[in-house]
Amino acid sequence: MLKGKTALITGGSRGIGAAIARAMAAQGANVALVYAGNQQAAEEVAGQCAALGVTAKSYQCDVADFAAVKALVAAVKEDFGSIQILVNCAGINADGLILSMKEEAFDRVVAANLKGTFNLIRHCSPLFLRAREGCIINVSSVAGLMGNAGQANYAAAKAGIVGLTKSVARELAPRGVTCNAIAPGFIRTDMTAGLEDSPLVANIPLGRMGTAEEVADLAVFLAGAGYITGEVIRIDGGIAM
Ligand code: NAP
Repeated sequence: MLKGKTALITGGSRGIGAAIARAMAAQGANVALVYAGNQQAAEEVAGQCAALGVTAKSYQCDVADFAAVKALVAAVKEDFGSIQILVNCAGINADGLILSMKEEAFDRVVAANLKGTFNLIRHCSPLFLRAREGCIINVSSVAGLMGNAGQANYAAAKAGIVGLTKSVARELAPRGVTCNAIAPGFIRTDMTAGLEDSPLVANIPLGRMGTAEEVADLAVFLAGAGYITGEVIRIDGGIAM
């Protein structure tokens, strides 16, 4: 379904991003994986993708760094020829109640999640507009839709991604470029390690955490859905309905 396309996937070394990379590679997409510091994990995922018969390569880049992202996009274009799919999945959290949240924790979380998403879109958009083809998938969170006590920084960043997604969708639609967001609930990854037995999970209507592969299936669907744009799709076992 994605044969011959190139997907640039941030956060591709672990968790949801790694699952998206494998799922897109299984559909024939070449994949450029971006990681922050975990080179070994990124190379492992790239190897798993390459074993599916596509071209796969990993790139170290802090998505919060505007100039570094510019260089990253240029390098991926040079290596792969073009980019058709952008998945903004890199993210971090640094939880704490608002009364004790440090300025640094707010800035760091907004920089990685929201500014990082802006940086990638900003530098990939010229390629998409010129080619009149492109699909942007941003990973938000149900925290950005309904808030979450102890995650004011993270929820603000993820809510920002929703506004960013809809604005970019409106701007790029005339050239056939789509921009959508995925809002996961509790997905079993390093980020949610230790939450399995928490009351939060007991409150999920479907009674369990989601898997990274389930989110990846949704990303693959969006990558092939040319008539959906500006949409935010929850994948959360019903927790935010
Ligand atoms: P994860 O397992 O902790 O993986 C995070 C990924 O982001 C890693 O690949 C990491 O690279 C990369 N990353 C972090 N900061 C970066 C930066 N500044 N520059 C480049 N890469 C960076 O997280 P996950 O659970 O898969 O989450 C993936 C996305 O889904 C995040 O945006 C998260 O907010 C969102 N999300 C997750 C859940 C959940 O329940 N898990 C729910 C809602 C939304 P390294 O490996 O090099 O550190």
